[in-house]
Amino acid sequence: MSLNEALRNITDVIFPPRCLGCAEILPQRSSQAFCPACKEKIRFITGSLCPICGIAFFDSPASDHLCGNCLESKPYFCLARAVASYETLILDAIHQFKYGRNISAGAALASFMAEFCFPDFDFTDYSLIIPVPLHIRRLRERSFNQSLILAQAIEKKYQIPVNFSLLKRRKFTLTQTGLDKKERKNNIEGAFAVTDNAKTEGKNIILIDDVYTTGATINQCAKTLIKAGAGKVAVLTLARVL
Ligand SMILES: [Zn+2]
Ligand SMILES: [Zn+2]
Repeated sequence: MSLNEALRNITDVIFPPRCLGCAEILPQRSSQAFCPACKEKIRFITGSLCPICGIAFFDSPASDHLCGNCLESKPYFCLARAVASYETLILDAIHQFKYGRNISAGAALASFMAEFCFPDFDFTDYSLIIPVPLHIRRLRERSFNQSLILAQAIEKKYQIPVNFSLLKRRKFTLTQTGLDKKERKNNIEGAFAVTDNAKTEGKNIILIDDVYTTGATINQCAKTLIKAGAGKVAVLTLARVL
């Protein structure tokens, strides 16, 4: 047993991992974020979906088909996939992590995301992971970037390196909530910049974020990377607003 493993065993006894949904103590050395009963309540995105933006058609008997938004204007990213619908347990757990600054909740959610089998997603196509950056002002407020914590779990699982300084957020944007589609687009336009084009040139990149809301932010990131020479950009998020 390595020193790290031994320390983890001791920590697990003193602070046993708990379910992020009901706080029930989870089996020791569990990398699970939720107990089986809570996991049952999560709406995973595994059924038919839009092949580009990944929006789920939960109650539709139809197979995968392009959604209205993607038909109207094709995003800069080639595909976006999420683990689960942004509601109930997942929403609460993300809030504990992000706003409650609960880093252990973040670590549990990160392994939960890394363990998920994203449908029709081939990790071997990609050679770089970029977390959606926070503006320095937001980073100082929160003291960590939630997307980076998620990205590092994917890096570890798939051995694809993370670069968290290649994409920068140069414009401080207020929350997108309450803005219509056009206002969101204007609000986020020019918000990101690539710091070293030579490092994006020809690269297939996975962008990581915690929540896919309307896709305006993530699409702006993808646009910035494509304009800086990236081959293709895919998006993975923990949750998606449906
Ligand atoms: Zn539970
Ligand atoms: Zn779509």
